[in-house]
Amino acid sequence: MSAPRTENIRLAELVAALSYAADLGLGQPMAHCMRQTVIALRLAELAGATEAEREATYYLGLMFNAYCHADAAEQASWFGDDIALKSDGFEMLGMNTAQLAAFLVRRVGGHGSGFSRARRLAGFPRSSIKRVMEFLTTHARLSAQFAEQIGLDQVAVESFRDGYEQWDGKGVPQGLRGTEITLPARVVQLAGPVEVYSRRHGPQRTREAVLRHRGADFDPAVVDLFCGYEADVLDGLDEAGGWRAIVDAEPCLARRVGGADLDHVLEAMADLADLKSPQFAGHSRGVAAVAAAAAGLWQLSDTDVQVVRRAGLLHGLGRLGVSNSIWDKSGPLDVVVRIGGAGVCRTDLHIVEGQWEAVQHPRLPYVLGHENAGWVHAVGDGVTNVAVGDTVILHPQPSCGLCLACRAGDDMHCANAFFPGLSDNDGGMAEYLRTSARACVKLDPGTDPADVAALADAGITAYHAVRKAVPLLPPGTTAVVQGAGGLGHIGIQCLRALTAARIIVVDRNLDALKLAEQIGADETVLADGDQVESVRDLTGGTGAHVVFDYVAEQGAEMDGWNMTAPNGSYFVIGYGGELRIPTLDIISTERNIVGNIVGTYSDLTELMVLAQAGRVTLHTQKYPLDKAVDALHDLDAGKVRGRAILVP
Ligand SMILES: [Zn+2]
Ligand SMILES: [Zn+2]
Repeated sequence: MSAPRTENIRLAELVAALSYAADLGLGQPMAHCMRQTVIALRLAELAGATEAEREATYYLGLMFNAYCHADAAEQASWFGDDIALKSDGFEMLGMNTAQLAAFLVRRVGGHGSGFSRARRLAGFPRSSIKRVMEFLTTHARLSAQFAEQIGLDQVAVESFRDGYEQWDGKGVPQGLRGTEITLPARVVQLAGPVEVYSRRHGPQRTREAVLRHRGADFDPAVVDLFCGYEADVLDGLDEAGGWRAIVDAEPCLARRVGGADLDHVLEAMADLADLKSPQFAGHSRGVAAVAAAAAGLWQLSDTDVQVVRRAGLLHGLGRLGVSNSIWDKSGPLDVVVRIGGAGVCRTDLHIVEGQWEAVQHPRLPYVLGHENAGWVHAVGDGVTNVAVGDTVILHPQPSCGLCLACRAGDDMHCANAFFPGLSDNDGGMAEYLRTSARACVKLDPGTDPADVAALADAGITAYHAVRKAVPLLPPGTTAVVQGAGGLGHIGIQCLRALTAARIIVVDRNLDALKLAEQIGADETVLADGDQVESVRDLTGGTGAHVVFDYVAEQGAEMDGWNMTAPNGSYFVIGYGGELRIPTLDIISTERNIVGNIVGTYSDLTELMVLAQAGRVTLHTQKYPLDKAVDALHDLDAGKVRGRAILVP
């Protein structure tokens, strides 16, 4: 007895459904891939294909183009509308080399503003052919992988891999020649363009076009078969290429999948749909998981939960039919910044080590870099506060401006924020970064972004804590700064600029203490084990009114607490350690513990006023962008003096 229908689906039906999605992505009417499959099967038959070859031809015909959208986002950045490109691409069959070059250049130059068009045109001829070849190599690799995943045999997998090889050896990825290329690949290569060209231009011009490419792109024997039997090959395509006819045309045993195998095929289809744009990575599987969980809570039966999950996996296939010039369209408040400097931060090391997993669940890979400054390169329609060419430093967390936290000026607790280089969005260790108008602080045009980039995170964080503590530090009070490194040395300068408090600096490193004296410390204390006693001695036995702890790990956190005077405040800025304090101790002394995370937009603007006036300066060590990994290693090994800055 056969299993229930939902548990046992024809592979041909799944693949035929996928071919509709590929039609959409190619800008072709529905059933283009099915009709190309019929043409290919007829040619394979005429060429005396074996049973295994006919089966491979069938699956290749239906699915060969399923991965043509794999780099649609990049295609769209070069060519504008990625789907229109592919639809027009079939016309290339009728072109000679000069016409082909003109076609590609016209496509590259055909969209965007004058400036971006000129830039693309300048960049294109150099790398054009190479890029197109890379696209094709990716498509071939992914579709061969898919063929393997859904359990097709070796002949089929090889045929998928050979899809972009060329009879004359000029194809990719291996430069195979002649009959080194599998027969299924040779017939499908011809069948695709023949389907489109014969529909658009009729049989006579199709014959002329394929003959022009005989022995170059196409197997001369297959071209001759087509020309000899053209009427038979193209006869009755509409009926033969219909859904039922195609599913029934599956050669050999009708393959069926069910159970966990079916789930694997559906997952592969979900991943394929999500390749459409980087922003969809993992989306279909995520939707499926959420929907299945909801169905479970609703106490649907296990079978129904499974159906809901599978529907979630497939819900996004239709996205392939929409151009990436729409999916990847920027929002009205988007700003693209050409990076002038990106700070390398201990947080980057923590992300690499996986410490942020618990808080942000970042989906790797993405580009690091959250301390960014540069020049505005492009702006969305609604941007009014900056213009192309402006020098800017970027608040690390673009915020929405509409939630209650934003309205209170508390950017870090925005309900709709993202954090390039830390959440799933690409950061600034790159030539360009996408951020929003609300994150941009305009700078004096003469500022070198690389000199100030680290103020965007290290600086703003150090400043934010000091700024909050200003009301607690009138003249006559004492502040302790624990840790005079990257953040601490900025904190000292901010205290000097904003308050008249006496500043005591504690650090393990004598050089750091020497620097602290030069930039504003009144007293310095070497952290040699007696630092709590020393601070108590310097404060008449009571401790400091405010302690800024830029270390807060490896025991420094308890020292910081113990240096805090009754009714004083302990500001935690560094992280990694753990505080264990009897609650009796907290209430009896009325000491406060204050958390600090990055800072607000106005903190950053105020800090930039101090920086541009020379009242807060930053020690930096510059690395070219392609030495990013060296910079991370140097930071990890404690070899960076001041802040490492990557300069593209
Ligand atoms: Zn940072
Ligand atoms: Zn908000």
